[in-house]
Amino acid sequence: MSPITFYPGPSKVYPQVAQYMQEAYQSGILSVNHRSAPFMEICRKTIELTKSKLSIPQDYTLIFVSSATESWAILAQSLVKKQSFHLYNGAFGQKWMEYSQKIHPQVGGYNFDVQEKLQPEGVEIPASAEIICLTQNETSNGTQVSNEVINAFKQKYPSKLIAVDATSSIGGIILDFAAADIWFGSVQKCLGLPAGLGLLICSPSVVAKAREIGDNRYYNSFLFLYDNIQKFQTSYTPNVLGIYLLMKVMENVEPITKVASRIKGQAEEWYAFLDGLESVEALIENREVRSDTVVVVKGKEGIIKDSKERAKGQGIVLGNGYGLWKETTFRLANFPAITEEEIQKVKEFLAENLNRQ
Ligand SMILES: *Cc1c(COP(=O)(O)O)cnc(C)c1O
Repeated sequence: MSPITFYPGPSKVYPQVAQYMQEAYQSGILSVNHRSAPFMEICRKTIELTKSKLSIPQDYTLIFVSSATESWAILAQSLVKKQSFHLYNGAFGQKWMEYSQKIHPQVGGYNFDVQEKLQPEGVEIPASAEIICLTQNETSNGTQVSNEVINAFKQKYPSKLIAVDATSSIGGIILDFAAADIWFGSVQKCLGLPAGLGLLICSPSVVAKAREIGDNRYYNSFLFLYDNIQKFQTSYTPNVLGIYLLMKVMENVEPITKVASRIKGQAEEWYAFLDGLESVEALIENREVRSDTVVVVKGKEGIIKDSKERAKGQGIVLGNGYGLWKETTFRLANFPAITEEEIQKVKEFLAENLNRQ
């Protein structure tokens, strides 16, 4: 039997994926031309279901790409003339900024503390910055930026675009899509699917900006992707299996309001549970910025290492720490595909092993 995994990406896939893969094979869709009617119909249906289940506004466009990292590149290549500005407090947000800097040397950023609540009043954003970039859920340290804060930036900077990396929260929490112009993520986190498919979601203002810039230099230039998806096609042969699996998962998951309320409740229980353990604690003390979908547990290096090893021996995978927190934390995904029984099992393990100094 495969172990129970709490790794925050790639993460546990829905068990139904086994059957969906079989169905995809039997339906013949995997050998169909990606400009044919059967593919276009699956593409159309997947977009419609995803927008409906995740409450994405009707006038936003959903584009299939291959990963969240690809979205970082598409943004810098096609949607920025000279300067994006990045608000970050961890490894993923910083990487995004660094990729963008390689393309546009003027890219800048503001590094805030993991325990700090981001606020527009506290940040000086250059007038010349065209896009404000932020990571809604920083997977490396288990912090999140609320819809209210994203909205506050939008209000303060109405003429700039707001871009949000929601890779480890899309499908797990309620995102106020109208509060930003560009959202992206990939399916191997809260959507419980195998890696290899990314979602890039954008408002009509993004399309206007892309037309103004007119970038057509790359195979994945935004306007190619955008023009193709209007016909439910893609500019290169896409991950047809990934799209099919997303369609099946979206057919079967509950609407995001329901999913999010379960995830939020479980997150509260996780933090309360950690409060009761002797030898570890939540890395993030500020309740206002704690992530709902990635819970990061801090302890002495020896304890963290030992816990991961013992857990492995019992068929449980705790996620390694990341970046700055590699040795002193482990991470627990609180993603929708993980069941209550699995959470119970890991809690029993933690209670038994971490209730000592
Ligand atoms: C996982 C992750 C990424 C990278 O996703 P890929 O699909 O591997 O490109 C980017 N940003 C955040 C916040 C992530 O959690």
